[in-house]
Amino acid sequence: MLTYESAKSYIEEKHPRALFLGFGETDEFAHKGQYDTYLQKAHQVDMLIADLWYYVQTDPFYRNNTTFIITTDHGRGRGASWKGHGFWVKGSGETWIAMLGAGIAPLGEMKEKQQRYQKQVAATVSHLLGEAFIATHNVASPIALPKNQPQQTTGNEVAVSNHTTAIATADANK
Ligand SMILES: [Zn+2]
Repeated sequence: MLTYESAKSYIEEKHPRALFLGFGETDEFAHKGQYDTYLQKAHQVDMLIADLWYYVQTDPFYRNNTTFIITTDHGRGRGASWKGHGFWVKGSGETWIAMLGAGIAPLGEMKEKQQRYQKQVAATVSHLLGEAFIATHNVASPIALPKNQPQQTTGNEVAVSNHTTAIATADANK
């Protein structure tokens, strides 16, 4: 909560083009096995993301040119060992990613037989910002963003350079 409040103050004051915001409480309580508190924290993070979305859509700097990318740093895993993660917890490497806003076609929940990787997130952010992603190590390709209707793809490549991207990670173990 404190993280969110200080981040929001920073956003209002500085208007950054990109922001990384980490919410760790769902992870913390899931690892402790406190499922009731975990659910409360997941609900709270949902509300914070909604509040941030409301803010960006009412701020002229961000309105209609901002993208949210929401993901987790690891998955819940399967079976009785769900409170942990790592090599021995099957399924804990499986995560989800949600994207909404500018440049993202509103297609709802998508399931494809195609794998995306966390290492693609940074490149995707750069792509949305219209910036080259340069690093001293090998970098992954941006996630191929599905297009909406044909008429909305025209001119998208030009508009992309104005995108502001906010990233929130909710380590939700969902
Ligand atoms: Zn964790």
